[in-house]
Amino acid sequence: MELITIAIDGFSSTGKSTIAKQLAKALGYVYVDSGAMYRAITLYAMQNQLIDIDCFDSNQLIEQLNSVEIGFSFNESLGFSEVYLNGHNVETQIRTLEVSRFVSQVSTIPEVRKKLVEQQQLMGQKKGVVMDGRDIGTVVFPDSKLKIFMTASAETRAIRRYDELIAKGDNVVFDEVLENVKSRDHIDSTREDSPLRKADDAIEIDNSNLTHKQQFDMVLDLAHQILKKEA
Ligand code: C5P
Repeated sequence: MELITIAIDGFSSTGKSTIAKQLAKALGYVYVDSGAMYRAITLYAMQNQLIDIDCFDSNQLIEQLNSVEIGFSFNESLGFSEVYLNGHNVETQIRTLEVSRFVSQVSTIPEVRKKLVEQQQLMGQKKGVVMDGRDIGTVVFPDSKLKIFMTASAETRAIRRYDELIAKGDNVVFDEVLENVKSRDHIDSTREDSPLRKADDAIEIDNSNLTHKQQFDMVLDLAHQILKKEA
């Protein structure tokens, strides 16, 4: 059976990773969370005092990029890959609101993007990959045969993210989560290098009023149609 590369892009907290993970499982593909890679570099910047509320030493970060190693390792019991920063599992640490506050700033740096895009393209070289992010269909895999662009209202997305953080025991305030979702959308869509936008050939899914199953069935059906055509 022919393998394809599937690109799932969209705004923050649209449920891209849940759909991408499930789709990869159903097709026997590898799932890659590109946002986790940007989050891991952000965590590195935070741990090394290169970024905080009132400063961002992007030049130092660029200088140190060669010593930042991001990797994934499949966790059998969880059923997905966890992200590693210089050999340490940082899967939990990168999901905090603290990292979310800085990640979009770090993601505007062209040198950071270049490093991660190269690594992502290598991971997709053999196809059979579902990757989610912001620039997968436009920059990382512009030739991808199936591109999905997910969207939903900012409020719907903030409620989802808030519920997730609360369920994990993070003590967050709803308005701060909403503000973070809006501000990341803004920075991600207006940055100069690879801004978040729908690829011309991407299929848009607004999931504000769709159940999880409806979305998944829709995307799986699209994948099957394309795989049939490729066979
Ligand atoms: O997908 P997630 O919300 O974890 O991504 C965190 C941030 O990483 C995004 O808000 C964006 O700034 C950045 N990102 C990116 N390009 C990608 C994936 C994520 O710029 N392909």
